[in-house]
Amino acid sequence: MELYKGKTKIVCQGTDENTVILRFTDNVTAFNGEKCEALPGKGETGFAFSNLLYGFLEQNGIETHMVEIIDEATVEVKKAEIVGVEVIVRNVAAGGFVKKYGAKEGTVFDEPVVEFCLKSDELGDPLINESQIRALEIATDDELAEMMRQALKINKLLCALFKKAGIRLVDFKLEFGRYENRLILCDELSPDSCRLWDVETGEKFDKDIFRQDLGDLVSGYTEVFDRLSKTLTVV
Ligand code: 5GP
Repeated sequence: MELYKGKTKIVCQGTDENTVILRFTDNVTAFNGEKCEALPGKGETGFAFSNLLYGFLEQNGIETHMVEIIDEATVEVKKAEIVGVEVIVRNVAAGGFVKKYGAKEGTVFDEPVVEFCLKSDELGDPLINESQIRALEIATDDELAEMMRQALKINKLLCALFKKAGIRLVDFKLEFGRYENRLILCDELSPDSCRLWDVETGEKFDKDIFRQDLGDLVSGYTEVFDRLSKTLTVV
């Protein structure tokens, strides 16, 4: 039974009350849904990429929502209460950071930058600081510290992995959920929610291909998926 239709995923009832089923669609959206298209193969490639990363993170001590992959675009996940902030980690200046703060695209940070954004399509996911998060009772101090700790650990693991695949992890967005009194990694980690550049050429393999009309999005996603799966089989 369908419970909810998101911009890129359909959420259905799980096999018991502790799970839900997510189906990745071919939809791709940008600029808060203003630009939207269905690109054949996009759902499956993004899904395969995210599964690969979540498997890698689980092996390295990060608990994710994954329960069981059902088919090439469908997964059963733990039913968590999603925390109402997105956690963004940046290693290199791009996108919103360039636009908001006037940094030069490509500037490499000495230390990763972590940002929180309010999860609200209506308000355009605005930046929100820790004191505002506390005032709005979106998350507790302990939860904020835990999200920050996990985000930085995930960044370290992924930077090392992508480096082996000749890819620079520029930035990415995470979502966490409350499940049995702990925070687990939810949603997805795909080229929809990361910026991925070729280490040598700077070529972009992520959703910026769609945002900036740079070419074939699905080919970009397939290229990073292939590189990553080769890297993971030799690790
Ligand atoms: P920026 O703030 O530069 O637009 O985004 C930083 C990073 O977070 C990028 O990799 C971007 O794809 C990801 N990101 C930010 N907001 C969202 C969102 O609402 N959905 C998805 N899928 N990714 C997001």
